[in-house]
Amino acid sequence: MSKIKDVDRNKVIKKSGSTGRSKMIEECAECRRLSESYESVTMAWFRIQGNLRIAECGHDENSAQILSIELNLIGDQRGALRQAIESHRSSHTQQLAYSAARA
Ligand SMILES: [Zn+2]
Repeated sequence: MSKIKDVDRNKVIKKSGSTGRSKMIEECAECRRLSESYESVTMAWFRIQGNLRIAECGHDENSAQILSIELNLIGDQRGALRQAIESHRSSHTQQLAYSAARA
């Protein structure tokens, strides 16, 4: 298990250059929690979108209305999570700048 993770990590670091930022993000529990939530909300979003399309094709207007409300709500959640991820990740950058300044 750890072997696979190390390979992934090396790949990410190479791609992102010399900052070492990606390594820290991968090891951060909060990053993992946020991206897992984002993934599950995204999956729910696609599922509702699929159901909405089916309801629309079947001219099921009641279901389509309910589903489009759900889709909006989950879309908001998705946007909020994305913002949370971005602001959390930028806090990593600040921490790194701080520890670099002290080193
Ligand atoms: Zn993090």
